[in-house]
Amino acid sequence: MTNQQNVAVLDVKSRGLRSLLPPSSLPAAKSFSPTDLKMLLKKRFETEKGGAKINAWVDSMRASSPTRVRSTDSTDDKSSWIVQHPSALSMFEQIMAASKGKRIVMFLDYDGTLSPIVEDPDRAFMSGEMRAAVRDVARYFPTAIVTGRCRDKVYSFVKLSGLYYAGSHGMDIRGPSKCCKYKKGNNNGVLFQPASEFLPMIDEVYKALVEKTRSIGGAKVENNKFCVSVHFRCVDEKSWAALAEQVRSVLNQYPKLKLTQGRKVLEIRPTIKWDKGRALEFLLEALGYANSDDVLPIYIGDDRTDEDAFKVLRDRGQGFGILVSKEPKETNASYSLQEPSEVKEFLRRLVDWKKYSQGGAAP
Ligand SMILES: [Mg+2]
Repeated sequence: MTNQQNVAVLDVKSRGLRSLLPPSSLPAAKSFSPTDLKMLLKKRFETEKGGAKINAWVDSMRASSPTRVRSTDSTDDKSSWIVQHPSALSMFEQIMAASKGKRIVMFLDYDGTLSPIVEDPDRAFMSGEMRAAVRDVARYFPTAIVTGRCRDKVYSFVKLSGLYYAGSHGMDIRGPSKCCKYKKGNNNGVLFQPASEFLPMIDEVYKALVEKTRSIGGAKVENNKFCVSVHFRCVDEKSWAALAEQVRSVLNQYPKLKLTQGRKVLEIRPTIKWDKGRALEFLLEALGYANSDDVLPIYIGDDRTDEDAFKVLRDRGQGFGILVSKEPKETNASYSLQEPSEVKEFLRRLVDWKKYSQGGAAP
C-alpha cells in the first residue's frame, strides 16, 4: 500500500489538511485554527477506527482525481513547474537535436493522451485527425500504444495495424500485424503475456466487482483482461468510501492481486513486477535496442501509471518522458504538453521534421 500512503502524503502537501478530513467534518468556508485542525484530526482517527485504510484509499482517490481547483495552484507554482517541465512543443528543436544519430521510438498512452477523458470509458474515441497523426508517425518511427486498457479494446479505438500494442499496463504485448523482422511471437503476433496464469482469477474478480458495485450509482467495472478497472468518474464523491470498501472486500480475497490508481479509476492487477516501464524496456529489447545508445525513446502519457515509464527513461538517461497535463504534477517526465490537441501537434511536427528536415522517405 506504499503507493496509496505516498499519495496521501502528497495530497496533504498540495491541498492542505482539508484533504485529510472527510467532507462531513468540514465546516463550510471556515478558516481553521491550529486547535481546530488538531481536534478534527483527532476526531477523524478516533471515530473511524478500522476505517483508516478506506480513508487512505479515498484520500488517494481524491489526490489522483482532483475535482476542484487546488488553493495552492498559483500562477507562480505553474510558472516554476513549466520551467522544470517545459512544453515539448517549445522545446521541439532541442528534442530533435538530441535525436541526432539515434532512432526515435515512440510510446503513446491512449486515454487522456490520444483521446479526451470522457465520462463513459466505452466512448473514449480518438479523432480522425489524431488517428492520421499516429498513423503517419508509425510510418516513420516504431510506435507503441501502451495502455491500461484491454489490448483488443484499445485496438478498436485506434484501428491502426502498423503499431505495437501493449494492453493491460503492458501485460499483453502484440506486434504490428504486418511486418516485421522484430516479431518474435508466433501466436497471432503476441510477443509477451507475463501474467497469463492470472486470466481466470481476473475474470472471477471482474464478476465479483460487477456484483458488489451494482448498488453504487455511476460505478463502472471494466474487464481489461489482465487487470480490472473500476471507474468512479460518474460516482458522487459521497459514495467514494462505500465504493472503496466494496473493492477492498473483493481484493482481500485475492492476495495475489494489488490495487493501483489512475485518473478516476481504481485498478486491480496481478502482483507481478510488471508495469508500463517494464513494457517499455521489453519493447526496446524486442526492437533490438536493449543495450544500445542509438535509440531515443519518447514516451507521452497523462497518468500516474505512466510515471513508471518516465522513471525508466530517467534512470536510463535515455530519451524523454512527456507528461500531458494542464496542472502542475509530481512527475518524472522531462517535458509537458497540455492536452491531446498538443500531442497531435507534436506528432505532426515530428513527421514534418522527418519528412522535410531530414529528407526522410517513409520506409
Ligand atoms: Mg492515460
